[in-house]
Amino acid sequence: MIHTYKYRLFTNKRQRKALDIILCQQRILYNAALEQRKTVYEETGKGVSYTDQWAHFRDVRHANPDTFRLVNATSLQQLLRRVDKAYRAFFRRLKAGETPGYPRFKGRNRFHSMEFKHGDGVKLFQNERGQVRLRIQNVGDVKVKWHRDLPAKSKIKHLVIKRSLGNWYVTLMVEFDPPPFLPLTGEAVGIDVGLKSLLTLSNGETVDNPRWLRVSLKRLRVLNRKLARQKKGGTNWRKTAYQLARLHGKIANQRRDFWHKNTRQLVNQYDLICIENLTLGFMTANRHLALSAHDAALGEFRSLLAYKAEEAGKQVVPVPPQYTSQLCSECGTMVAKRLSVRVHKCDACGLELDRDVNAARNILTLGLSVCDRTLALAGVSQEAPHF
Ligand SMILES: [Zn+2]
Repeated sequence: MIHTYKYRLFTNKRQRKALDIILCQQRILYNAALEQRKTVYEETGKGVSYTDQWAHFRDVRHANPDTFRLVNATSLQQLLRRVDKAYRAFFRRLKAGETPGYPRFKGRNRFHSMEFKHGDGVKLFQNERGQVRLRIQNVGDVKVKWHRDLPAKSKIKHLVIKRSLGNWYVTLMVEFDPPPFLPLTGEAVGIDVGLKSLLTLSNGETVDNPRWLRVSLKRLRVLNRKLARQKKGGTNWRKTAYQLARLHGKIANQRRDFWHKNTRQLVNQYDLICIENLTLGFMTANRHLALSAHDAALGEFRSLLAYKAEEAGKQVVPVPPQYTSQLCSECGTMVAKRLSVRVHKCDACGLELDRDVNAARNILTLGLSVCDRTLALAGVSQEAPHF
């Protein structure tokens, strides 16, 4: 299987400048390759193949040691393949009767990344002090913020070095054998996804944004207010808008990191994870829940949970969301309550419980019954795995 791993690069001033220059050369080459295809087509009605272009631009590269030669040869090949791909997509759509736009020439603000084959112009290594560095041809050894290890016995296939809002990142495409399934623990859990706590588990535990993420979110509010006060389009407004964009990027990274750790823990601990099956229709119909950033964050939680569970041989069971917050998780009586009522109080059996924990317990019960039914349909003895 292949996964991608993204890391922040910490560059010094000289390295930043070198990377900027190489990216710029790549962009010029990209546009030149596009230009060549266009001209040849207009003059002869014929296309140019990737091989033709490589033969041509290999010579161009060699003839310009101070500029294009800074671009690694294999990286140039990848670039020409990108042009080829853009062109093929263009013609495919043309053939299908659509009216696609001609592949774009890339301006300074539209070209951000370059591809490499690992070991060819770019190599990841550990220095004598055990720190991870990325050796980039014509740039030097760049510090890598190594926040996650790669899976055991993995092989880096290729990588993309990318500039985003003034920061540099490397994305590794890594191939590895699927890890063995995790040992079963015999535990199941129901999870309520909410606004008060991000997650509430059926055993009463809650998961909230960690402190460092809350700090960033607070700063986001401050900056948003600042932007609203400034004159739109002015120098200060632009400055704030840039800071905001950078902060958004940072929060997205922090959030992904947080969910990676969290979903990993859940999958390690539970064999069966029951969670409300929220469809898009439900979200939009329910205006109270339609908070875009919040939704996006929880969407990421769901997708990470699903793929981690699948890899570990664990199961995520989606359950219908209706009534999970209204039913009593103890006796099944309907206890209607508004969203603002935080405690579930059942007159029938006397249960008094946090609203979200009650919902999480209902989700668990529902999930288990769904599983029982599936097992019954499959003709499997119900005695087998018992939670
Ligand atoms: Zn009850």
